[in-house]
Amino acid sequence: MEVLDYRAYRPRAFTKEERSKTTILFGGLTWKHERLIQASLENMGYRAKPLPEIRRVDLDMGKEFIDVGACCPTTFTAGNLARALMQIEKSEGRERLKDNYVFVTIGACGPCRFGQYHESYERVLEGLNLRDFRLFLLDLLQMEQSVEGGGLEISMPLTLGLVYAMFIGDLLTDMEYATRPYEVEKGKTDRVLRDSVELIYEKLRKRPIRGKKLGSLLWHLTTDYFTKALKEVKELWDEIEVDRLRVKPTVKITGEFWLQTHEGEGNYNIKRWLEQEGAQVVPPPVAVWMDYLINMELFKLEDKREFVKMYPLKKAIISLFAWLYRYTYNRLRNALNDIPNPLPDQRALKELARPYFYYRLTGGEGHMLIGKALYAYRNKHAHMICELSPYGCLPNTMSVGAMAKVLGDYPDLLYAPIEIKGDAEVHALSRCQMILTEAKRRAKEEFEEVLQRTKLKIEDIKEFEAKKPEIRRATYRIPHYGYAGTSANYVMHVAKLMGRV
Ligand code: SF4
Repeated sequence: MEVLDYRAYRPRAFTKEERSKTTILFGGLTWKHERLIQASLENMGYRAKPLPEIRRVDLDMGKEFIDVGACCPTTFTAGNLARALMQIEKSEGRERLKDNYVFVTIGACGPCRFGQYHESYERVLEGLNLRDFRLFLLDLLQMEQSVEGGGLEISMPLTLGLVYAMFIGDLLTDMEYATRPYEVEKGKTDRVLRDSVELIYEKLRKRPIRGKKLGSLLWHLTTDYFTKALKEVKELWDEIEVDRLRVKPTVKITGEFWLQTHEGEGNYNIKRWLEQEGAQVVPPPVAVWMDYLINMELFKLEDKREFVKMYPLKKAIISLFAWLYRYTYNRLRNALNDIPNPLPDQRALKELARPYFYYRLTGGEGHMLIGKALYAYRNKHAHMICELSPYGCLPNTMSVGAMAKVLGDYPDLLYAPIEIKGDAEVHALSRCQMILTEAKRRAKEEFEEVLQRTKLKIEDIKEFEAKKPEIRRATYRIPHYGYAGTSANYVMHVAKLMGRV
């Protein structure tokens, strides 16, 4: 019997000459983020295409190919890749699949399976007998890198294009969830959202390439190219009329990175489901995670300050980097009249989580899961936290365990930890519904209280709205007056405008 040595997967080179005929496949985020990432890649001369949207069938397919103990996001995404490759093979043939497509994924070092996703994807290639299909792993934390053969080069302009795609994807998602529950004309938010994504897609695709390294960075930090584009987007959202007198509980989504940002069957479409159940969802921006990674570098440096050469300089560089990151996000937010939420303060998240979770225990969301829940609760940003925990996730199990103590200290915090297995929808949603019932009661109570406090009646507010219709625009900003619900803050705002308080 012939004995074959095990050989680690090593993709064939992807050369520069192949670029024009090779499509880069990628996935893992919402359709909005993926469409904008596609634009950033096309802008740099690549052909790019997101994987098909995640379906329930991907979970079953993933289970066939990879380790059965894998966490639910790994299983879903591995199954999704398998389904995409099978579809392309069916429509274009095996040889074209191998020659004209590559799949690119990212990974990072650490204790969770995020560092091993590519291993699961390699099992998919083995299972499909496609070991000569090219799959490339990029390092999330490297601004500049390239794949073997130079067919894909992550340069400064491309990295910055991807960062803007991520930021704008987040901001549009925030606009979407803040508007849809209150839209007067059903379906208008989704239509405007699609038009906005296409508008930004075109802008990103035509983005001028100025400079290579520092020049490119400076251009991105100072240009009004993106803020102008977002002002055009704002004009589209100006046309959406909203009724903020609909009393709705605010539900903040937290949890594992992929599950919380995902919109689809991978998390039982829970955000849409919550909206159908009468809630306003606060979605988690992807940008928070990058902010966390940047700030973790700063915190680690501070820990070992006595042993670090040129500590003040190194600290100043990372702090400047962290500041520029938030400055850029806020600049883009500002073009949308600050309707999207700001990024939470990472130092505050760390401090809030400190009594419960040591911040150096990284993996998954680390201490952020606890920090974000307490941040939203203490600042009255939500009536309820819905935390999406993947089946088979070690980092998340640690956070959920620590949350038991948090809930002991904050018994009033409405917290719904939902385990997502992918195939236990009724169980998960009914658990969420129980806590949502209490959140609805609190939203109503808060609304009644503000009406009493301001001595306003619904008819008074409607009369005022008729005289000042601009306050019913989706882009009209309602300040936060310390209430968790939009409707309560709205009543207080109207009362202020009317001079009642
Ligand atoms: S955080 Fe958990 S669910 Fe997410 S990749 Fe890591 S192990 Fe999997």
